[in-house]
Amino acid sequence: MLALDGGPRLVPEGAVAPWPHIVDDDRKAVLDALDSATPWHWPMRTVQELERAWAEFTGMPYVLAANSGTAALHMAIAAAGVEPGDEVLVPADTFLASASCVLQANAIPVFVDTDIETFAIDPARVEERITGRTRAIVAVDLNGLPADHDALRAIADRHGLTLIEDAAQAHGATYKGRPVGSLGTLSGASLNGSKTLSGLGEGGLFATRDEEQYRLARRVLMFGEELPGQSRDYNARIMGWNYRIDVLAAAFARSQLARLPRMSRVREENGAALTARLAQIPGIRPPVVPEDRTHVFFFYPLLVMPEELGLDDIPVAAFRDALAQAVNAEGLGIMRWQPRPVPAQTLFQEQRGYGRGCPWTCGHARPGIGYDPRDHPVAEEICARRLVLGQSFSSLGPPNDISTMDLFADVFHKVLVEERDALVALARRTADAMG
Ligand SMILES: *Cc1c(COP(=O)(O)O)cnc(C)c1O
Repeated sequence: MLALDGGPRLVPEGAVAPWPHIVDDDRKAVLDALDSATPWHWPMRTVQELERAWAEFTGMPYVLAANSGTAALHMAIAAAGVEPGDEVLVPADTFLASASCVLQANAIPVFVDTDIETFAIDPARVEERITGRTRAIVAVDLNGLPADHDALRAIADRHGLTLIEDAAQAHGATYKGRPVGSLGTLSGASLNGSKTLSGLGEGGLFATRDEEQYRLARRVLMFGEELPGQSRDYNARIMGWNYRIDVLAAAFARSQLARLPRMSRVREENGAALTARLAQIPGIRPPVVPEDRTHVFFFYPLLVMPEELGLDDIPVAAFRDALAQAVNAEGLGIMRWQPRPVPAQTLFQEQRGYGRGCPWTCGHARPGIGYDPRDHPVAEEICARRLVLGQSFSSLGPPNDISTMDLFADVFHKVLVEERDALVALARRTADAMG
């Protein structure tokens, strides 16, 4: 019997380890940073060590640690030379920060539809969105899978655009052997506690190959000031913020980064094992991993397919919500993540921005830019059908292993195969309640 209907729950309390995975090396690193953190000075040695380690890991020579991925992406947009009224292409289905970083530079996000297999920006739909104002493309490595960077690079080069990588969900993954964080001309990554490279609390990483871009990003990081050597002249040259990372978060992330290759391999193996089992179960479509890249499964996205069960009369939304309810009741954390593409959020629909419609009403912007859901039907479909495992609550990272993945798969087998009649009944009740 389904746990939801009073049967025994399949996943015992405590059977799935949360993310991040914290070991004694991490504790020691944070305590060492605590002991060396006074008196306060900038830059801290621990922060510089994190920056050097990310530079070495990615092969990007210039790295700045920031206090969020959102901050690192804003630094990347500014460092790319994006100015008020410029347009930046962003995938329609991503986290808000991939687009709001553009607004932070008083520039205009223009959304491109995504691909139903990779969940990333669809290279075939990019060029139709390019105008004379377009300056850059933000390529997001969504869920833990790198975007199609070679195709995007070719388009960017053809049109003189800067390719910016949003690496916030995919640290440790590779594309044609190259690491996430190095796939764009510049990149921004997140160290938020849930991410595949975690700072436990909040943090971010900016990276570039270009010294001038590094200089611009550093101004944004610290009050608009120029910082030659160690001395400050307290003279803001441009609008700048305080995006400095907390030293304890930097210490934790530095320690985690030392184990990132090993942890990523566990994630790849866990994801492959889970997919091998879920591919046998009708009603859900597991994620695809193209041969030229690896997937580290920050999220393990599933698309619900009631049609595969002959349930054409049940709305997708009712089936999705019933499945999520039943799986959660079995003790496995699953959720919808974002219910709508980014341009469908109120910020874009109402275009209030900074107030008075800025930056869309700014004199530098192209007049008449709007956000129509019909521009990204695939992103809409993904948001309607998607459920995700992963992140912190049903992590594919260590110490969870193949036996944990078997437990995950057992839940779907129970709910979608053994107890299918009960699930279908629940889906029908859900549909009735939806009206
Ligand atoms: C998490 C995330 C960000 C923002 O990072 P924060 O550290 O939370 O500010 C940006 N883009 C994507 C795709 C993300 O998942």
